[in-house]
Amino acid sequence: MIYHSTRDHSCRLSGPEAILQGLAPDGGLMIFETLPAFDVKEALKLDPIRLQAALLSAFFPEIPEMEALVSKAYLPKFDTPEITPTVPVGPFTVLELFHGPTYAFKDIALCILPYLMRESLRLTGKDASSRLHILTATSGDTGKAAMAGFANVPGILLTVFYPHGGVAPMQRLQMVTQQGENLSASAIIGDFDDAQSGVKKLFMDQRFGEKLGERGIHLSSANSINIGRLIPQIMYYFKAYQDLLSRGHIHMGDEVNFCVPTGNFGDILAGYLAKLLGLPVGRLLVASNQNNVLTDFFHTGIYDRRRELVKTTSPSMDILISSNLERLLYLLSESCGETAAYMKQLQEEGFYRVSDQLKEKLDESFWSGFTTDEEAASAIGEVYQSHQYLLDPHTAAGWHAAKVYQKEHPEDARPMVVLSTASVFKFPKVVLEAASAKTADPVTASSDPFEQLDQLSAFSSLSVPANLALIRSLPELHPAVIEPSEMKAFVMERS
Ligand SMILES: *Cc1c(COP(=O)(O)O)cnc(C)c1O
Repeated sequence: MIYHSTRDHSCRLSGPEAILQGLAPDGGLMIFETLPAFDVKEALKLDPIRLQAALLSAFFPEIPEMEALVSKAYLPKFDTPEITPTVPVGPFTVLELFHGPTYAFKDIALCILPYLMRESLRLTGKDASSRLHILTATSGDTGKAAMAGFANVPGILLTVFYPHGGVAPMQRLQMVTQQGENLSASAIIGDFDDAQSGVKKLFMDQRFGEKLGERGIHLSSANSINIGRLIPQIMYYFKAYQDLLSRGHIHMGDEVNFCVPTGNFGDILAGYLAKLLGLPVGRLLVASNQNNVLTDFFHTGIYDRRRELVKTTSPSMDILISSNLERLLYLLSESCGETAAYMKQLQEEGFYRVSDQLKEKLDESFWSGFTTDEEAASAIGEVYQSHQYLLDPHTAAGWHAAKVYQKEHPEDARPMVVLSTASVFKFPKVVLEAASAKTADPVTASSDPFEQLDQLSAFSSLSVPANLALIRSLPELHPAVIEPSEMKAFVMERS
């Protein structure tokens, strides 16, 4: 199957080549030339492993024995064979995406991506002569999920860059304690956008690429700019739909709305791809935090990143340059030229305005709202009080947005699925204080992140996830803190 750059139709690669490449050579993102045919009704009968295998095979038909790869990737690592279970909570259905080894939704793609990359190396004949060096910028969760997924995978190196002081304490601890001969991580003095643009710059630096090439090294990405990271995220929209069917909540063909806590626009774009494939997806709700560049965009058609990044209690959404929006602009405009022009203007002037035609198409499928930290905290408290269910701060942003949408659109009676993107134990302080605030015994969180885990466990009667409890006894292996200008040397030293 052919993939091409969102900015240039003539920049064409096979699926395995696109997975290895990460970013398109012209700075665009790889996208399929034609959407593959997919039998939605048949897929809805499959268990999660077969479902994921069917989806991945549709997009990457070159890769053989997908089902075996998918079982190896998930079954030993997830705490339920459902992989992504759903739970009815009050007015909504919560889609729990945190049952993997690092407790964020990133695990769903990053458990399988190493297998897809190994197969791609083999299929393109690159496995004998070269190694991959994967560079990844993280707003907190991708870093750990990638490190866990790629630890000690032969032929692959991984370097993770995260914003210094810009991730939650538990997220940082998860990364800096990860063991693996082939792994590096460093904090960047700057925010996520600095880390992401630093990585993109390295991909596009031809001389740097050539130097690495002399050592037999190719660069790739584990961010959702990589099509191999994006496609595996389609599966859970189908899984949620199956669950609503089997609970008798909907009939086959009924539309379902999804609300997605959003940063880099990868997770929600996978939902849009599910809709394109024919899953009856109604409206997709883009939930932002106070970094509401996307909410403004969906309301006005103007994407304007000329603003300060705010640090919030949902750090994985502290992003101003939402990379995957580029893929949506391409899919809706069906024009590489138009997409390239928007991206050029964003790069040079810091903003762009989409055409009226494109804006209309955005409105057909999307709605967007943003949530302040205070509103997220109230949502955590209210949902705990009313339904004895704990939301992490990212999911709380989704919950709040879904509530606002329902108030604004009382005529829309379609069921709502809220994607829960992380375990509460990754953000124990915020969750503990918010959930207990309105009870008879408000809890003050300890300043020690491990004590916070115990406090949250005692408060909620949920057990501390095993891989987080374990970190307590692990040494910190990745102490580096560098300037963005030092990223190139950092990668060179490790290549
Ligand atoms: C990455 C992340 C998000 C945002 O997902 P995008 O695909 O970047 O939009 C939301 N919540 C959590 C917990 C995350 O880790």
